[in-house]
Amino acid sequence: MAKQPKQLEVAFLGGVGEIGKNMTAIKFGDDIVIVDCGSTFPSVDDTPGIDLIIPDFAYIKANLDKVKGILITHGHEDHIGGIPYLLSECGNIPIYGSSLAVALIRHKLTEKKMDMPKMHVVKNGDVKKMGVFSVEFVSVTHSILGAFALAISYPGGTLFHTGDYKIDYTPVDGESIDLTRIAAIGNKGVTLMLGESTNVEKRGTTISEKEVGVTLERIIESHTDKRIIIATFASNVNRVQQIIRICEKVGRKVAFDGRSMVKISEIARELGMLEYMDNTVIDIEDIKDFEPQKLCIISTGSQGEPMSALTRMANGEDKSVVIGDQDVVAISSQPIPGNEKAVYNLINNLYRRGATVLYGSLEQLQVTGHACQD
Ligand SMILES: [Zn+2]
Repeated sequence: MAKQPKQLEVAFLGGVGEIGKNMTAIKFGDDIVIVDCGSTFPSVDDTPGIDLIIPDFAYIKANLDKVKGILITHGHEDHIGGIPYLLSECGNIPIYGSSLAVALIRHKLTEKKMDMPKMHVVKNGDVKKMGVFSVEFVSVTHSILGAFALAISYPGGTLFHTGDYKIDYTPVDGESIDLTRIAAIGNKGVTLMLGESTNVEKRGTTISEKEVGVTLERIIESHTDKRIIIATFASNVNRVQQIIRICEKVGRKVAFDGRSMVKISEIARELGMLEYMDNTVIDIEDIKDFEPQKLCIISTGSQGEPMSALTRMANGEDKSVVIGDQDVVAISSQPIPGNEKAVYNLINNLYRRGATVLYGSLEQLQVTGHACQD
């Protein structure tokens, strides 16, 4: 009997038909590359008592000798959160990602006191040979810096994986989406495109991240007599950068609250992705030395996460920040589906303490990181 010709096989281990734990394995003959290895957060309603949800690695374990590496599209938890668990079950697999994604993974593994696998920092246009595959990394815009689409060539074709993306014509900083290169890859011919589809049902065009900066500037400038607290995702370095620039302009000190906000901002500054003067940022414990109207606190907890800085503040449990009527709290994110209850509880608790609360439906405080239909 004739031997079956080799063909491309794609195994979705997570992220299809769900938000979270993105992981895809791409196989041709005896070679496999993995795209992302994310986690997802459990919900009190569906998965009570569960700490974290990760993909099922059985397929990878069964084919481990074929795996050439893990390609990281970007450093969001739903794309890198499963890596420590994959490495502890399968041993060290080489990882390829942007400088920010690699730094975030390194931090994660250090915290868990794990060995470091070989990590390769890649940039726009880099091409890596991995077994039979040749992988090109193409910059895209998203709600985190250092995001890539992947053009994965194999004998007989090219698979194009968009990663998470939006088309932002006026990005705040960093690399723009490389539409010229994407068009060229398209013209050459793509056998299969895997497209991120979070906002596929939303009509119109995704708003630029810069728009949020305009709203935040108006909020900060119109509350000169109040302390400002802005909650957002720590990984949205561009948004943190916009807030810091406004604060430097109006002469407010900035303090970070929340473990991931402190850590990611530190990593981003070291990588040259976040810029501010040395005397702009103060330690959260030193805010008592400054007048409230001279302060802006950037905190985690925009999703109402139980252990986060903003939830602690709203519950009167934060060591450094006591919320009162001198505060304007801006929640610069939209509740991720499933988090609505926690977010509205948080907003209610902040109101009860006397704060002015600004959030999604009242202001343009959030833009999506995902492309709409246009
Ligand atoms: Zn993402």
